[in-house]
Amino acid sequence: MNQGGWSCPHDTEGACDIIKKECDPGDRGCVLYRKVKFSDVNLPSNEAFEQRMKRKMKKLQEELCRDK
Ligand code: SF4
Repeated sequence: MNQGGWSCPHDTEGACDIIKKECDPGDRGCVLYRKVKFSDVNLPSNEAFEQRMKRKMKKLQEELCRDK
């Protein structure tokens, strides 16, 4: 998929060379999975992103408490 101002280096004419099927940004296996929150709430990346952010915040809070 090549729409807008970003193009993925793994996209070869609409096919993803990682997941070996049609490019589907945010799907499991995609480089954006877990790293990006998409406007489509049904994409699996969104829940994974939220979980990652929760873990990151928890770790930061623990570090802050430890440094006090
Ligand atoms: S599925 Fe993700 S990694 Fe694969 S080509 Fe599309 S944007 Fe790139």
